[in-house]
Amino acid sequence: MRIGVDLDNTLVCYDEVFWKLATEREWIAPDVPRSKELVRDELRRLGRESDWTLLQGEVYGPRMNEATPFPNAWEALRTFRERGWSVFVVSHRTRVPFAGPSFDLHAAARDWLAWHGFLEEPKTGLCQGGVHLETTKQEKMARIGSLKLNWFIDDLPELLLEPDFPASVRKMLFDPHCHRPPLSEPIVMVHHWREVSDLISREGC
Ligand SMILES: [Mg+2]
Repeated sequence: MRIGVDLDNTLVCYDEVFWKLATEREWIAPDVPRSKELVRDELRRLGRESDWTLLQGEVYGPRMNEATPFPNAWEALRTFRERGWSVFVVSHRTRVPFAGPSFDLHAAARDWLAWHGFLEEPKTGLCQGGVHLETTKQEKMARIGSLKLNWFIDDLPELLLEPDFPASVRKMLFDPHCHRPPLSEPIVMVHHWREVSDLISREGC
């Protein structure tokens, strides 16, 4: 079994760090819930769209190590390894932020994976060579196809529903906040990493 996993908002949870940075700067009130989406919505409501763009450059760059793995994400990879499955990370992010200082966002992503133990290959089965950071959505889908994956796990239904998404790859939507509507395509929905390996075992390839 070959499993592909998205990085941002699938392995990495940014809820706390977006809230922390926005409250540190007093851009939002501390009573805004600790949620990436709600911090974004509040900044937009306040007319601070450009600050939201700047914040993303920092959170996906120099402050990325303050983001946390979703609960049981690391343990899920260890279970894949124990079951003899191969795992790959396939992500789409620009090399540098759209606005603000020119941080290397790809280096930040690799550092985050190393820092949080995801690249301890004997335990997780993942090494630097298994991490594919692409700069466009098309390249991401091409990579998902060329890796001949059985499954791909992503938080964005838009990606899984793309007409160019490789037809041979089964799709799993990671929906940790349980806010996605049911999908018409045969996409398996999952709300917590602890469910993932058993779902894949049950569903097969
Ligand atoms: Mg994502």
